[in-house]
Amino acid sequence: MTSVLIPNELLAHIRSKAPTSGGHNEQGGLLLGHRKCGALELTRATFPSRWDHATPTLFKRSQRGHRISALREWVRSGQTVDWLGEWHTHPGGIARPSFTDLESWRLLARQSKQPMTFIIFDNISIYVGLQVVNKAMVKPLRLAERDQSHFLYS
Ligand SMILES: [Zn+2]
Repeated sequence: MTSVLIPNELLAHIRSKAPTSGGHNEQGGLLLGHRKCGALELTRATFPSRWDHATPTLFKRSQRGHRISALREWVRSGQTVDWLGEWHTHPGGIARPSFTDLESWRLLARQSKQPMTFIIFDNISIYVGLQVVNKAMVKPLRLAERDQSHFLYS
């Protein structure tokens, strides 16, 4: 059973940089943080760079840009942060995974050989899912607890 701990600040930071109203391009990036027993603790995210390919209905992340910011965070954290998942937006749509999302999440969890979390932002809400290696389907998580600084999804 894995839960996902997300700082309010991180969600607010992503929302402030990635508009989700209709007419904008999709945006996305990596989610970084720490793996604890039974929990993924998110601490940072990476943001789109000019190497990504983005339209209002598609975001194709390039390794370039995201990889260097992930490496920079890894160094800054004293080599402790890990790649925990990805986020992206559905501008003007709903925060629900598309067929393409489900396919790519399955693949990413298989490649990383660890449970990964995936977050989709629409204009008002978020979707948080957990993809376990070799599970056909991502598990949608629910908001279980919140305090002044964090949301806990499980
Ligand atoms: Zn999507």
